[in-house]
Amino acid sequence: MKEKSMIITVTGPPLQYEGIETVLTNVQELAQINHIFLEPKCFIETGDPSDPRLPPLDLDGSDRVLERPLSGKKELYGHLVFPFELTESLYAGTPYRPAHHVFETDLIAEAVASARARDMKISMMLSLAKPPGLAEEDYPVLPSGERRLPAISQKGCINNPKVAQYGLGLLLDVVRRYQPDGIFVDWLEYTNYHFEDNLLCFCKHCHRRADQLGFDFERMRQAALSVLKWVRNASLDDIAPAGSWESTWERMSPRVAQFFEFKARSVKAYVESLRSELDRSGFSHTHLNVAGFAPPMNKGTGMDYSTISALSGQISSVTKLYRFHWGLMVGWYANQLAQLNHRIPADAWVPFVLDMLELEGDNGFGVEHYRMPRPDEIGPLKLENENRKLREALELASSPRRMTPLLHAYCPREVFRERIATALASDAWTIGIQRYGYTGDEKLKDIGEAISKV
Ligand SMILES: [Zn+2]
Repeated sequence: MKEKSMIITVTGPPLQYEGIETVLTNVQELAQINHIFLEPKCFIETGDPSDPRLPPLDLDGSDRVLERPLSGKKELYGHLVFPFELTESLYAGTPYRPAHHVFETDLIAEAVASARARDMKISMMLSLAKPPGLAEEDYPVLPSGERRLPAISQKGCINNPKVAQYGLGLLLDVVRRYQPDGIFVDWLEYTNYHFEDNLLCFCKHCHRRADQLGFDFERMRQAALSVLKWVRNASLDDIAPAGSWESTWERMSPRVAQFFEFKARSVKAYVESLRSELDRSGFSHTHLNVAGFAPPMNKGTGMDYSTISALSGQISSVTKLYRFHWGLMVGWYANQLAQLNHRIPADAWVPFVLDMLELEGDNGFGVEHYRMPRPDEIGPLKLENENRKLREALELASSPRRMTPLLHAYCPREVFRERIATALASDAWTIGIQRYGYTGDEKLKDIGEAISKV
């Protein structure tokens, strides 16, 4: 059997509150993992509930708490910042800067040194397309011309030079400083947590990019508008399941596929620019891992796994197998479709959405069923959904070596064990776990046990 390796994502707060050595020992000895994706940010706790929460509330999950309490608490309020002085010259051409603060010591640099001393690999986890304080003029744009931040991710458009340059600057700032083995980029694609987010973005920068790439911008915009017109006018008969993502969108607007193709070309261009920036700056050995939504949602986000994973031996795709997100998306899509349509209630849209997202639910539930599961609940969608999307993602990749399934640890322990066993038995060479904060000691031991059997 081929050798399998595992990765776990770690954020700064556990390093701060549990200590670097404790975290690395847990990862290495309990979980038998030798590679971490580290978010190089530190937490400044304010205790003020009007500040961002850890874990984030962005998935409307006030029930979601960490399995590993931070300083004895399962939720914290404050700000995450990069713990270093920025290299200003890297951000020329963009008004945006990462949130940062210089502390007495750089905890991230210490963690990197400590990981190296233990022979562990360390990659840096970054959101490159989400500058803090994005100005309204830089928001993505709906086909109607209305500016709209995408739900949850609140990220900018990678075709916007101010956003793109922010990402390139941050990438180099972090790579130069910490010299990691790799970079893990999340939320680079056009996220589609809500239905209408699929129709982003029609900003002026996208217009220019479309012209460059030979896409007819106005024709794509009309196709996107006709999706919304279809939704507004749909009757109950119209929303009978069509059988797949593609047939559903084809039914709504036959020409919208062009727009999805345009988004994929935009994402590809940005990934290429990240790769060439690394290569040009002397970091050709730094591996680039690019995260995407699971199939078929990736078609609406512009994450074309086949293309991205084939770009270079130094680029891998990571597919997020976050089943509780998909359940929430069913609810969010159904609610938004009902708001657009006015006549068909959200409950009646559920089968349509399940079919569009190629998900199998337990039949016959209304929209209320699709909520955030508690830590001990399996959630509204069957486990088989994750298995199928794992297989599909691996088939899409140019090689199973270039596709890392990322399993979310937020689930009951039995489910977690089953998820790991399934992923290890698949064609994937590398399996990622999201993330240390949701992985108590028992789950870490489960990982170690599973990997030692392979
Ligand atoms: Zn745009």
